[in-house]
Amino acid sequence: MSEPKCPPWCASLHDDELAADRRHQSGVRPVAVVKRIPGDAPAAEEMHLVLFHFQDEPEPWVGIDQLQITPESARRLVRELSALLYQVEGERSPQ
Ligand SMILES: [Zn+2]
Repeated sequence: MSEPKCPPWCASLHDDELAADRRHQSGVRPVAVVKRIPGDAPAAEEMHLVLFHFQDEPEPWVGIDQLQITPESARRLVRELSALLYQVEGERSPQ
């Protein structure tokens, strides 16, 4: 049986004995954010983005701290965030 290959983004050092439940994982990408929970003061924090893929699942997952979403969900989120930010930037443009 041939050894399944890691996707190009995998940064894991796999133990061959764990091949049956192999989890491919990217490096963690920290993102500096200013975050506010309603009622609390804003605070500087770091969020952590990661890609992972269990080899018995059809597609990878995008991890945003404790939240895990599909790549298609992440694309929709990026599109909608971009649209919202475009509106904010439009408000700041000189008239
Ligand atoms: Zn891997």
